[in-house]
Amino acid sequence: MIAVTTRSGLEARIAPYKESGKTVGLVPTMGALHQGHLSLILKALEQTSLVVVSIFVNPTQFNDQKDLQKYPRNTTQDMEMLKPVLKENDLVFLPGEQEMYPEPDTRVFDFKKLDKIMEGRHRPGHFNGVAQVVGKLFEYVKPDVAYFGQKDLQQLIIIKRLTEILNLSVRVVDCPIIREYDGLAMSSRNALLGPNERIEAVKIHEALKNAADHSGERTVPETINATREFINKSPYLKLEYFEIVDGVHLEAVRDWKDAIEIYGCIAVKAGSVRLIDNIRFP
Ligand code: AMP
Repeated sequence: MIAVTTRSGLEARIAPYKESGKTVGLVPTMGALHQGHLSLILKALEQTSLVVVSIFVNPTQFNDQKDLQKYPRNTTQDMEMLKPVLKENDLVFLPGEQEMYPEPDTRVFDFKKLDKIMEGRHRPGHFNGVAQVVGKLFEYVKPDVAYFGQKDLQQLIIIKRLTEILNLSVRVVDCPIIREYDGLAMSSRNALLGPNERIEAVKIHEALKNAADHSGERTVPETINATREFINKSPYLKLEYFEIVDGVHLEAVRDWKDAIEIYGCIAVKAGSVRLIDNIRFP
């Protein structure tokens, strides 16, 4: 693998692949890599000729400066993790802020309702920042395929919309959620959990599983109430939202019959750490 820090270096390494018609796969990350990230990278290795993994903690998607400051960063460990996995010519793009934002990005994307709900409501401006950085990565790398995790379901849907807004031909591939041994969805933020919060955080997935397992005998509002109660019973967890939505527009459903694909999306504060997860209802 080759580490590059500049846009020009990146473009120079990618150009021969593009010229010879080989496919380029992009895996955007914010680092502090774990098996979840790795699953995206493995899929990219399987499906494309040149894999580009980007590691950049993007300031424009953080609405809370404290959150940005404490976001885990561990490039040395990330590189150790990537070394045995990536091929000789695959690229790790490690840009500085100047490289991504030589001048401030003032673009405002119109995602209609998609970025106003759930994560968007609790993190104003977050998805616009995500769209800015992913838009730039798409511009620099010009990938044929880009890989995103279903763990961030709303982000995934917004990125697909972004490719339409920017009129790009990149194919966005969804990758399933990878979990810890006890069910907690893998996340870079898990490293920030204290011991009690870590133990209790498993209840997030438990709550989702309960919701899905009992959906046959409970209505949508009953499922929401039961999930809310289950989470808030824990002294270490605080529910931010639990919403039951359709898988296309992420609009709240009132009845299980309202959509074919239905997801339960949850955000929970475990101490000061914000965790998200989701489940597809049967
Ligand atoms: P992040 O570094 O948190 O911005 O995540 C980079 C990419 O990895 C995003 O597409 C995430 O959805 C994906 N990702 C993060 N955690 C997981 C996980 N547990 N399972 C699958 N994909 C994940």
